Amino acid sequence: GTCMCCCEPMETVALSLCGHHSVCGLCSYRLRVLLNQTQCIFCQQISESVFIADSRDFPPQGPMDHVVWDNQTKVCFETEELASRFRALTVAKCTTCEETFNTVKQLQSHTRTCHRLRYCWLCLENRKIFISEQATYDQQQFRVHLTGRDGSGLKSGHPLCKMCWRRFYDDTQLIYHMSQDHFACHVCQRRREDDDRQQVEFFQNYEQLFAHFRSEHYVCEERSCMDLRFIAFGTELELFSHMSSEH
Ligand SMILES: [Zn+2]
Ligand SMILES: [Zn+2]
Ligand SMILES: [Zn+2]
Ligand SMILES: [Zn+2]
Ligand SMILES: [Zn+2]
Ligand SMILES: [Zn+2]
Ligand SMILES: [Zn+2]
Repeated sequence: GTCMCCCEPMETVALSLCGHHSVCGLCSYRLRVLLNQTQCIFCQQISESVFIADSRDFPPQGPMDHVVWDNQTKVCFETEELASRFRALTVAKCTTCEETFNTVKQLQSHTRTCHRLRYCWLCLENRKIFISEQATYDQQQFRVHLTGRDGSGLKSGHPLCKMCWRRFYDDTQLIYHMSQDHFACHVCQRRREDDDRQQVEFFQNYEQLFAHFRSEHYVCEERSCMDLRFIAFGTELELFSHMSSEH
């Protein structure tokens, strides 16, 4: 069958206590180990433990005398081979020379100094995959990875905040950063709630935002409102009703 989580054909299958087995072993293991998520994604029931088996002979027939119980992750593997394959995913091992390390930090400095290869810190922090699945890059490849300019023309990479030149993992994090650390126009933002084609501009400082208010919207220039800042309206009528009620 096909995994409900990654939509790939299932090589291994995870059986939850509820009896559902619609997720592959790798997805189930990722959810448990990296996201601490133990619910069955089909029925939401918490599954204390899970059984991971080869999908070719699932459900297993005959005696299961080679199962391996992993107490830390509460996973029961059908065979020794599966257990070691899955456990290896979490090991900080150099993919170039196979040396293993206790921490990801040690692995990072090893690949950097011994092979001139680096991991992407944004992917390490945000991508919910195991350390052994993370890619390493040389200088050139890393630039391509960051900017997404791999020649395919597809938009990928980690978006750049053009105001402070910091990169973010994805658009969601970039937009959150912009709203927290830069000035956005609330009039444009409110319009965007009605029409998502509306662009919201962000500004480096209040002076630039104020210049935008003045050229695009209606600002109350009474002393008290100038002191408060951010008092701007989308229409002349709104400004007028503000003037008559506040001043
Ligand atoms: Zn999957
Ligand atoms: Zn279930
Ligand atoms: Zn190495
Ligand atoms: Zn990355
Ligand atoms: Zn920024
Ligand atoms: Zn605006
Ligand atoms: Zn006012």
